[in-house]
Amino acid sequence: MNEVAVVGGGPTGLVLAAELALAGVDAVILERRPTPELAGTRARGFHARTIEILDQRGVADRFLAAGRTAQVMSFAGTPLDVAALPTRHPYTLALSQSGVEDVLRGWVEELGVTTRHGAEVTGVTQDARGVDVDLAHGDPLRVGYLVGADGGRSTVRRSVGIELVGAEATRSHLIAEAVLTDEAPTGLRQDAIGIHGINPVGDGGSVGIVVTEAAVGPATEPTLADLSAALTLVYGTDFGVHDASWISRFTDAARQASTYRSGRVLLAGDAAHTHPPTGGQGIGLGVQDAVNLGWKLALVVTGRSPASLLDSYEAERHPATARVLKNVMTQAFLQRGDARTDAIRDTFAEVLTDAGPRERLAGLLTGLDVALDLGEGHPLLGRRVPDLDLATADGPRRVFELLHDARPLLLDLEVPEGAAPAAPGGTGDASWGGRVRHVRARCEGPWVLPVVGPVVAPTGVLVRPDGHVAWVGEGTTAGLEDALTTWFGSASAAASAPGSGGAVGGDRFTG
Ligand SMILES: Cc1cc2nc3c(=O)[nH]c(=O)nc-3n(C[C@H](O)[C@H](O)[C@H](O)COP(=O)(O)OP(=O)(O)OC[C@H]3O[C@@H](n4cnc5c(N)ncnc54)[C@H](O)[C@@H]3O)c2cc1C
Repeated sequence: MNEVAVVGGGPTGLVLAAELALAGVDAVILERRPTPELAGTRARGFHARTIEILDQRGVADRFLAAGRTAQVMSFAGTPLDVAALPTRHPYTLALSQSGVEDVLRGWVEELGVTTRHGAEVTGVTQDARGVDVDLAHGDPLRVGYLVGADGGRSTVRRSVGIELVGAEATRSHLIAEAVLTDEAPTGLRQDAIGIHGINPVGDGGSVGIVVTEAAVGPATEPTLADLSAALTLVYGTDFGVHDASWISRFTDAARQASTYRSGRVLLAGDAAHTHPPTGGQGIGLGVQDAVNLGWKLALVVTGRSPASLLDSYEAERHPATARVLKNVMTQAFLQRGDARTDAIRDTFAEVLTDAGPRERLAGLLTGLDVALDLGEGHPLLGRRVPDLDLATADGPRRVFELLHDARPLLLDLEVPEGAAPAAPGGTGDASWGGRVRHVRARCEGPWVLPVVGPVVAPTGVLVRPDGHVAWVGEGTTAGLEDALTTWFGSASAAASAPGSGGAVGGDRFTG
């Protein structure tokens, strides 16, 4: 019996499976596609925080090599200054969704995760000890926990009776790849119906088409006749559209699952939140879900933390995603081309001539400004740790390098001026049951947070595997042991693990 089944081998499922594998959990991906190939075009890239997360795992270079970095972020047509944000990756990565999945798949395979292609999940049922998974073909499975990363029409979500709540669709769009007999104007067009575009794809004579429909289309698969009707409404002709290799429909509905967890079943990525593609947020939200959930699920599955730790997944990710969805809804609304919408767009554009509002929106849309509510305290608490240069006993290191194996990190930064960071506390020093990497380091900073600005340099930080700061030392270790216990289980549970020592890293940090 696998400890965890991840349903869906899209971006979210792949990253989650990698996180579980790094934590030593036996997980299987169940993917209904018979082969890895993806039909049609979907995402074209992702933003800075997603690149940072991949950097935290040491694989960002693979994506950067496969794609192209660009300063393409905008809000309703007004460019935003991503380059001004304090990150090593101040850009968006342009890379097709199939390119993203190819790189992720290679990484997941290296980590030894099995993907079962052609494994369509038709239903899940659970009891106190595990989850039974029904497949369209073949024998059912039983697993300890199951995560539905099976996209917007999630079978898992329906199967456990979780509703999507939020703004219903007011418009729908068709997206397609097809051949046109007649010449058509390329590029984007905005009118009172919505936004539309026709662009060449590949060299086979096909074009990529996005067109807004006259009224919200049905939930059934769209047809060539639907595409022809929508083109005719907008352009006055369907340009002799034929040979559609792929047609799909998306709407401006923006909804979230009413809960992200039902017992042993959790939801992540599009299965937990569906929204229009405006602003290119989907992959980033799914990746953030996956890295938030992966280490928590691993601690629960291995018996080190109580199942209640999983409730923090929804408590943290639901509000962070709700914020992004408000922005996506605003941008999708502003895609109309009538006089009133033009007026709102122009008003935004005027406000965005100031650097402050531009940076604030760039912080939100890049995902760099996510601030988890972990209580009062230093501004770093709950935010993502910056990837600063460190001097350690093992030589120079970046903070993100110390997160590659997805273990918690305790950075002890109170090293006297001029002194070398000494053992214990080389980069390999482990404590709290072998779970927490304890590193002594000197750090020159600068401690500057996106949107927030410069902050007082801490004397220590406890960083969760997802890169968020769970405790900040300000000349004292007060609160450290509580933070360690809250997030990574009790010291006594740690002491029972092989090769463990309950205290963290000796002397100063001994609880
Ligand atoms: C036109 C368009 C453009 C977009 N552009 C961008 C963009 O530029 N940037 C961006 O970040 N996002 C973009 N998105 C959104 C992005 O594509 C999604 O948010 C992202 O794919 C979500 O990943 P996921 O892994 O959660 O779900 P999915 O990618 O939907 O993956 C779900 C997987 O589950 C599998 N599955 C489904 N049901 C079952 C089942 N019953 N059993 C087993 N397997 C199952 C599916 O085959 C699929 O592989 C765009 C979306 C659209 C439609």
